[in-house]
Amino acid sequence: MFIQMQPDATAEDIDRVTEEIRRVGWDYIINPGEELTCIAVKSRTTGPEKMEFVERIQAYRGVARAIPITTPYKLPARTVGQTTTLVSIDNKVVVGGECFTIIAGPCAIETREQLFETTEAVKSAGAVCLRGGAFKPRKDCGSFRGLGIDGLVYLKEAREKFDLPTFTEIVDAKDIDAVADHASVFQIGMRNARNYTLLEAVAETKKPVLYKNGEAMTVEDFLCGAEYILSKGNPNLILCLRGTVTFDRAVRNSLDIGIVAALRQLTHLPIIVDPSHSTGKADLVTPVAVAAATIADGIIVDVHTDPTKALCDGPQALTPPRFAELVRQVQRVVNAVHHA
Ligand code: PEP
Ligand code: MN
Repeated sequence: MFIQMQPDATAEDIDRVTEEIRRVGWDYIINPGEELTCIAVKSRTTGPEKMEFVERIQAYRGVARAIPITTPYKLPARTVGQTTTLVSIDNKVVVGGECFTIIAGPCAIETREQLFETTEAVKSAGAVCLRGGAFKPRKDCGSFRGLGIDGLVYLKEAREKFDLPTFTEIVDAKDIDAVADHASVFQIGMRNARNYTLLEAVAETKKPVLYKNGEAMTVEDFLCGAEYILSKGNPNLILCLRGTVTFDRAVRNSLDIGIVAALRQLTHLPIIVDPSHSTGKADLVTPVAVAAATIADGIIVDVHTDPTKALCDGPQALTPPRFAELVRQVQRVVNAVHHA
């Protein structure tokens, strides 16, 4: 359930409400929005006891309304009038709200030179964050699976040298400390979207998390996964839509723009779109990025200095000049659209 406070509710009003929640033995998280405070309550009952609580708490001073949530997730849910959560990365970049965040870089970190060259190119084109995989989950176990710790070391060097926050995927809980030490944001990829123990362990670090949807996840499944992260008291969560598997093979994965719109209504979390892993084809990346600019909070794009030699996902990688053109087109749309 959500308890939406009046815009002028005082700290004492909020204290009285949280005291009552504690008294009945439930957990809660306070979300201080820009205009009003919301309290997300994790009630442990669904029956009459909960409805009795809803009615009672609405009579408390400063409470606008109590909203019982029937969905299986609670913490990611957007309440009426709630603004999008802003996620700050390295105190340099804010994802959500008025900003449109462009994240770019190689799918996989292959060498220090390749990473640095790509970073320089994406930064000068207008990217504000760098992506780069050190641990690559691959279907074919014989293919390149990333440089591991060496890749993280290069990523950290690039972060410092180019002053860009970095995103990198975590695939195994044993690497959490190493990733936390070397990168700005944990990326949870499609293959681990339902690895709930990994989600919880990553959330415990309190570092920002980019959570991608699984290849066969519904919106509800996705938001239930998000709940695992938020329920560990880590509010620094960004959702990333990368498409799902459908019968249509014209694209690698189907990214439904309607799902982006639906998520906007359902969750207060910032939403970014991955036009690279969704389409799987370099020619389709820019048009999808432009579409995302009308509705999402950002994009994450694969860029490679020579896609024909890429060790991972070459067909979907943009060359630096093509990426620069993407940014020009996206920025025209961003300037025209207000991101609420
Ligand atoms: C990636 O972004 O490098 C990646 C592997 O993406 P996904 O998990 O969406 O397939
Ligand atoms: Mn990839």
